[in-house]
Amino acid sequence: MSEINIFVSGKGVVPGISIGRAYVVQPRLVSNIQRNISEGEIPIEIQRFNIAIDKSYEQLEALKQKIGDEYRDPGHILEAHQMMLKDEELRKDVIQFISDRLINVEWAINLVMEKWEKIFLRVENEYFNERLSDLRFVTYRILRNISGLECFSHDPPPDAIVIAPELSPVETIQFCKNAVTAIVTEKGGATSHTVIIAKSFEIPTVIAARGILDLIKNGDLILVNGNTGEVIINPDVNHVREYRRRMIKILAMEQNLINESHTAAVTMDGVELTVYANVDFAEEIEKAITHGAEGIGLYRTEFLFLSNINEAMNEELHFRDTLNLMEKWKGGPITIRTFDLGGDKFPTEGGVLNEPNPALGLRSIRLALKNRKLFKAQIRGILRAHSSMPEVKLKIMFPLISSWDELNEAKDVYYECMEELTQEGHELSENISIGTMIELPSACMISDILAREVDFFSIGSNDLIQYSLAVDRANENISYLYRPLHPGVLRMLKFTIDSALNAGIEVSICGDMATMPIGALILMGFGLRTFSVPPSFIPHLKKMFRQVSAAEIKDLSEQALNMASHHDISEFFRNKLGSRLQEEIWPEEGEQDSVK
Ligand code: PEP
Ligand code: MG
Repeated sequence: MSEINIFVSGKGVVPGISIGRAYVVQPRLVSNIQRNISEGEIPIEIQRFNIAIDKSYEQLEALKQKIGDEYRDPGHILEAHQMMLKDEELRKDVIQFISDRLINVEWAINLVMEKWEKIFLRVENEYFNERLSDLRFVTYRILRNISGLECFSHDPPPDAIVIAPELSPVETIQFCKNAVTAIVTEKGGATSHTVIIAKSFEIPTVIAARGILDLIKNGDLILVNGNTGEVIINPDVNHVREYRRRMIKILAMEQNLINESHTAAVTMDGVELTVYANVDFAEEIEKAITHGAEGIGLYRTEFLFLSNINEAMNEELHFRDTLNLMEKWKGGPITIRTFDLGGDKFPTEGGVLNEPNPALGLRSIRLALKNRKLFKAQIRGILRAHSSMPEVKLKIMFPLISSWDELNEAKDVYYECMEELTQEGHELSENISIGTMIELPSACMISDILAREVDFFSIGSNDLIQYSLAVDRANENISYLYRPLHPGVLRMLKFTIDSALNAGIEVSICGDMATMPIGALILMGFGLRTFSVPPSFIPHLKKMFRQVSAAEIKDLSEQALNMASHHDISEFFRNKLGSRLQEEIWPEEGEQDSVK
């Protein structure tokens, strides 16, 4: 008899509750045959390498075709792996090891991998760790193909919960397509490609469940909570009942919230709030529509060419993408942000800048203004697309503006594009407004001046918090310092909202502070009326707004401005509002005190 109720705790990264049978994936085995070769055998080994590369490439291509256009994230990740396969450095290194040391290709690949691991591991950075895992997955595929072994030989039953040391993005795609009901891994980072893919497929996922492989065997009944990271192996009947009850409750509640999300969010004292969707990929528009979005408050265009910056030069790409977006979205305004590359978002190919401090470096609007051709290609593409659908209310905004000069420089490029297009015979509509993100402390503090230059502000709290508190938003070690409710941050937000309201321009937020109940309410208390959040948060946000009175929240928010710490502020709101904050049914982040 197996032991019952074995609890393992990991990190919940894709929400949802699941009950199923364990499908255990053992650590992968790769060939490490080490053999010395003669000089005459060098071409044979190089040929074995080339054949395996081609085969690996074709396998990824076939998988890409199989998943189709529906899932853009997974498709991009497969493309990135294809690029790694064709990487000249990898080729050169492997061939050099074969020829210089007279060793077989398997040995050479393993040595190259060791060399790169040493280099990558010197940089303590989550991004590089993730790229190192990608590289491992790619070399694993090559090695399996050299030895004639299958790269994916799994056939999990329909209610399977995959338990693995870690999964490659390709394995994750294949498991998700096999309709597994949850994924649990021992390793993996919250921002890894595996997690991004599981999110796309909405498969509840728990990572960092250390030691789970020693405790579980194939076929064990298992409960997984992707919100809390809890995993229970061989649960007793009470736990199963409790999970079933929660599953049903969550489903029913979600459905209710979604149904209600199509009516306006009006506070108890009659103030109407507008809730837009943040969209990273056009595929998310459908969800935005079903979840009651009244417009698109942020479309992040940089994901279009994250894998290859050279693609950004392609005006047609921007034209087609904007057209696609406008065709899919039939509703309120669409806000397109010009590309925001650099910092934590830099391309994997053809443009990685080697800067000592990328967050403070040549990124975002700075990169755009230095690469006018690229910037213009995007603006021209967007404007051309809009000229064929002028009835769409289009808003264009610039990221990371730090000064009046920079904003005007960006606007000049925009006007230059308009002039060129008009001369080329395109009819441009008036139905476009120009705005700026407010996401740097300097921009906040001159927001009264910037407000004279634009039609709208969109507050980027993610970066604003990072830059005002000097806390890298992607660094787990200091995430406890990332405080949206820091009084310093709140005062900047208040000043920015006042500046916009005094100037009579629109102001909204598209940063994740609006996905935390207290954060959203304080902003509302400061006078903000438009919020843009990922689609899954829209129904919750609207429900919360309906439970409060704007006058009461204004009063509480003004009091918060004089408090000393984020802790006092969150306690104060929790005491005053209790269950009206909806925290127990909030999606994903739960605690919500340090959301980013
Ligand atoms: C922000 O900084 O708040 C924002 C919305 O932009 P991003 O998260 O893309 O940097
Ligand atoms: Mg930002």
